[in-house]
Amino acid sequence: MSFSWWEHDSWFSNIDFTIIGSGITGLNCALQLKTRYPAAKVLVLERGLLPNGASTKNAGFACFGSLSEIIDDLNHHSEEDVVELVKKRVEGLKILRENLGDANLDLQVNGGYELFTKNDREMYETCLSKMPKVNSLLNPIFGADVYSVTGNKFNFRKIQPDLIFNQFEGQLDTGKMMTSLLQKVQAAGIKILNSVTVNGFSETNTAVEVETEHFSFYTNKLLIATNGFASQLGIPEVKPARAQVLITAPIADLHIKGTFHMEEGYYYFRNINNRILFGGGRNLNLKGEETTELALTSLIQQKLEVLLKNVILPNTPFKIERRWSGIMGMGEQKKPVIKQVSNNVFCGVRLGGMGVAIGSLVGKELADLIK
Ligand SMILES: Cc1cc2nc3c(=O)[nH]c(=O)nc-3n(C[C@H](O)[C@H](O)[C@H](O)COP(=O)(O)OP(=O)(O)OC[C@H]3O[C@@H](n4cnc5c(N)ncnc54)[C@H](O)[C@@H]3O)c2cc1C
Repeated sequence: MSFSWWEHDSWFSNIDFTIIGSGITGLNCALQLKTRYPAAKVLVLERGLLPNGASTKNAGFACFGSLSEIIDDLNHHSEEDVVELVKKRVEGLKILRENLGDANLDLQVNGGYELFTKNDREMYETCLSKMPKVNSLLNPIFGADVYSVTGNKFNFRKIQPDLIFNQFEGQLDTGKMMTSLLQKVQAAGIKILNSVTVNGFSETNTAVEVETEHFSFYTNKLLIATNGFASQLGIPEVKPARAQVLITAPIADLHIKGTFHMEEGYYYFRNINNRILFGGGRNLNLKGEETTELALTSLIQQKLEVLLKNVILPNTPFKIERRWSGIMGMGEQKKPVIKQVSNNVFCGVRLGGMGVAIGSLVGKELADLIK
């Protein structure tokens, strides 16, 4: 591809910072850099027509962990690490709200619930018995107990008698969040180029040569915010994890309001006005879902429908209006990788299923690696 002198001069010369990926992390990183260096030329490259990983495809839970998720985390990480991660999720949500405003996010704090199917009796009892301990661990962060027991007021079927309620959990409109974030980035004078796939990069003495599918150019610093796709650019700590979702058509007099978790977070659903968005089931085929292919499988989609019909909406007819999938970034540890990759290359990736909460913070911390 050969650019005109004008194109080269305005878009591809003297670039201070190039960010790969226009998800929550990349856009927040770009904003933070532009705030710190107002005169800098900041460019964001995105392979999709829209952001095409997880940021425009997620469930919009403004959450920091269901009780069973925290208990599971405590089985694999130290207490300090678990508390630290909850703090990061809370801090990330605070930055997101300050940055975009609750109205632009359509943020609603309707509370979060965890329900346990008949087969989940052991986990249910573990959660009830460990709830006081987890509450006391998190109390210093929230100044109150997070989890309490509540009845099955939504008439879910085939579940254990009670639900666990989290009074601090909220939900937002993912589309509105990303629209207003993109607007803010563009208003700051940051250029975003879509449909540009970065294939690789190489360091020169003072800069980085970025190779895209159709052209290459130089940038002073390169910041990688490609999360689930990070291993394609040589960051081995991240594995892709596909998450599949469906949404119903509007349901008259929908009685379900809030965010809901099942099976240690492997299933999640919420209302969006009078619809139910329902996702999960990755645990049915963990190896098969370790992919960057944005596709659906009948195994998972059928299971979602069965649970919707038998457990969540047993007495309510519904239609599925749309199905989709997104790609998350996972790894050995439930912790983002924010690091310097080489002289002038940095990355902020592996956000797990937590990026709505921690994405703004990870983007900021990625930008802060630049000294
Ligand atoms: C179905 C689903 C439900 C979820 N629900 C929640 C939730 O309720 N709450 C929560 O906190 N989190 C949730 N998450 C996780 C959250 O969405 C992610 O952690 C977050 O969006 C990650 O943001 P990111 O910017 O790091 O990555 P992404 O949004 O994936 O952005 C990375 C971008 O990089 C681009 N890219 C990749 N490779 C290249 C390349 N070589 N060249 C150019 N561009 C490239 C991709 O197209 C993509 O747009 C969910 C995720 C999914 C998939």
